[in-house]
Amino acid sequence: MIIGALALQGDFREHLAVVSRLGHQPVEVRTPEELAAVDALVIPGGESTTMGRLASLYGLIDPLRHRIDEGMAVLGTCAGMILLAAATTGPDQPQLGTLDVVVERNAFGRQVDSFEADLDVAGFDAPVHAVFIRAPWIHKVGAAVEVLSSVPDPATGEPRPVFVRQGNVVATSFHPELTGDDRIHGMLIDLMEAT
Ligand code: GLN
Repeated sequence: MIIGALALQGDFREHLAVVSRLGHQPVEVRTPEELAAVDALVIPGGESTTMGRLASLYGLIDPLRHRIDEGMAVLGTCAGMILLAAATTGPDQPQLGTLDVVVERNAFGRQVDSFEADLDVAGFDAPVHAVFIRAPWIHKVGAAVEVLSSVPDPATGEPRPVFVRQGNVVATSFHPELTGDDRIHGMLIDLMEAT
């Protein structure tokens, strides 16, 4: 099947390499026409304000919302998670609002800007090695959102969700495209095949 990656900014090429490895057809998505042709979509990491602005400029915000509301499987990683979310704890920026969470951008702070951790994930039998790069965490989850993994807040020890699912929408604060572990993209494919 055809799996797109939103290719406005960020590390979409790494995601498309995973798509090829899993035996599906990778496509770069920059226009509403290209979006209409995909069976599932990855929204990559990068810089969420830039990606959101470009998505508005390219006329992609409403078509993205529409396809996701209709049930297209989507995986958002890091900035992609921020774009999918309803709001951030900071100033307004373009967002799709198709994932009922409030995210805190760059949440792990300067001291631990980027780090790696092994995460236990609900439904996975072995941990996921997760790479966090100026990552968000989820500040608030809506009732329909399933938290699949959290990490302790470095300041308070409180669990902060970093991997969630709401129906056809999967989102991670970290970068599964960088570690050669294809289980999270596999989830996207399973969701795509189930719809
Ligand atoms: N810090 C970026 C943002 O807020 C996200 C970083 C990433 O995607 N690796 O948009």
